[in-house]
Amino acid sequence: MRYGIFGDIHANLEALEAVLDDMQANAVTHLVCLGDIVGYGANPHECLEIVRSLGCPVVKGNHDEETCDTRHLKDFNQSAAHAILWTRDQLTEEEKNYLRALKYTRPVDDFTIVHASLDSPESWGYVFSEMDASASFTYQTTPLCFFGHTHVPHIFMRDSGLRGGFYSKVKLQPRRKYMINAGGVGQPRDGDWRAAYAIYDQREQTVTLRRVEYDIVTAQKKILDAGLPARLAERLAVGR
Ligand code: ZN
Repeated sequence: MRYGIFGDIHANLEALEAVLDDMQANAVTHLVCLGDIVGYGANPHECLEIVRSLGCPVVKGNHDEETCDTRHLKDFNQSAAHAILWTRDQLTEEEKNYLRALKYTRPVDDFTIVHASLDSPESWGYVFSEMDASASFTYQTTPLCFFGHTHVPHIFMRDSGLRGGFYSKVKLQPRRKYMINAGGVGQPRDGDWRAAYAIYDQREQTVTLRRVEYDIVTAQKKILDAGLPARLAERLAVGR
């Protein structure tokens, strides 16, 4: 099986479509979604419809959660909060019910998926450092865990010690544990504007990071036309 691991779509339809095309071209057989389907971008309905039609395992992201809530937004910056309030207005009650019902973590085959981290996944902590990863590893019962949330592709490996770093293709070794961030589809933040996702080849025991060009001009124009903050369009071009 070849798993396409994707998340942080953030209502960017152009990026999502480009990633799904790339998965098809790369013989992906199964899909899993790491959450944050909505928030920031201008096509929440369309992205939700596509992800739901794929019928794959999906976990809940913090933007998914806030979008179907009615609480005051406290942990979001101004442009993110603006986008969440806008998305709340866009989505139907049925779509919100779907997002509400998503689980924080899921076992899939021989790995686990989570949006943020396995220690207290509903607290939405960011895993950037070895120390952050260490807390999550404590709760990881499978050799491999895929996560998102930071929008930065990264790998952490635990054997007798714990190391982290960037990856493009990695061969998984037995008797080690891995936490792998698949990057962000719709709003990468590692300085590369191209959509990111990962392919886990179960037979080969490899994980490959993919970068995919997409129609960024259209995605940006839709954000501006929707009256969302210009900063959300601008940041797509710089991948931050
Ligand atoms: Zn996100």
